[in-house]
Amino acid sequence: MVGLEPHLIEILKRPMRVLSVSFPVRMDDGSVQVFEGYRSQHNDAMGPGKGGIRFHPQVTMDEVKALSMWMTIKCQVVGLPYGGAKGGVVCDPRTLSAGELERVSRGFIEAIAQIIGPDKDIPAPDVYTNAKIMGWMMDAYSKLQGSFAPASITGKPLSLGGSRGRDEATARGCVLTVLEAMKKRGQSVQEITAAIQGFGNAGRTAAKLLSGVGVRVVAVSDSTGALYNPNGLDVDALANLKDHGSFRNYGHSEHMSNQALLELPVDVLIPAALENVITAENAGRIQASIIAEAANGPITPDADTILFESGIQVIPDVLANAGGVTVSYFEWIQNLTHSYWTKEQVDAKLADILVPSYHEVNKIAQEHRTTMRMGAYMMALSRVAEAMKARGWV
Ligand code: GLU
Repeated sequence: MVGLEPHLIEILKRPMRVLSVSFPVRMDDGSVQVFEGYRSQHNDAMGPGKGGIRFHPQVTMDEVKALSMWMTIKCQVVGLPYGGAKGGVVCDPRTLSAGELERVSRGFIEAIAQIIGPDKDIPAPDVYTNAKIMGWMMDAYSKLQGSFAPASITGKPLSLGGSRGRDEATARGCVLTVLEAMKKRGQSVQEITAAIQGFGNAGRTAAKLLSGVGVRVVAVSDSTGALYNPNGLDVDALANLKDHGSFRNYGHSEHMSNQALLELPVDVLIPAALENVITAENAGRIQASIIAEAANGPITPDADTILFESGIQVIPDVLANAGGVTVSYFEWIQNLTHSYWTKEQVDAKLADILVPSYHEVNKIAQEHRTTMRMGAYMMALSRVAEAMKARGWV
């Protein structure tokens, strides 16, 4: 791939360990349902595995394996002492009661307990999992160990050793990279317009942080559609409406499709929802000058090439959304040292990691006249290769 020797590529092509489990869960009606799940540990040359656990009806082992490789890259793009891992449980959390969700969460941790732990592999939230679920998972793991093990899981509630700033870390990291990218365009912050697809944790927090620094957020969307006002939207009012259901009743805006939002004449576009939303079909119609991937994998490889050739700067997911795993790392350190940081300390340390990482990746991309995604892969994989060589694996 990136000038690595063939045997290194052979090692990195597949995860080092994948565990496939099935476990029974007692449902509220008294029946027993068997759930399936996976944990993939891609590479642990740099340290213990790190990566989220997703709950989704379409989770497959192949998807979890691919996502664990992305985590190896993501951790190395921001220089964390971790390898990549990822987990998934095939389930639809929207159809589970709170009690069933808790039993699925505990059941999965019991099933994978042998291969996780603070020095082995540290899970965290991902699609459709959250702090509450991480709390149950940490409790299940601690009970199996017979001792309090907060560093076994990150993304926990504050009361169980979670880190301040973890909930907004993904969006904060994304906004930091966007503001770095904007600097060289010489526009004042007030002149910048942004469209954000998705109003989940990452999307709504990115909207809040961007408008907080003066950027004009002109479009947002959720799964029901998008709202657009070229003069700017009131992000707090939208968040309020969303908390009570949907922001469809917000006036002062034009309603449009999620697809149309992507093609608006804005400076910054942040896909913060689904995978594969920018494809070869619509890439030619994108008008933004910067796209920051808050979601994992919103741009297909074909579309990446088209965007690069049109001079649109793509800040890839492995950098743009690495703020989440970075603050997970801070949480792990705080748990291991039993000392806790203020929100200001967390935010400052996050910027100290994300801003230099942005510039390093950009520099490599420019030197090799390639995309920032390729630059990030080059940087990350050469770090992993160096560690594998130093360990004497190759
Ligand atoms: N699931 C998040 C990601 O894809 C966070 C992982 C973590 O905090 O370990 O980066």
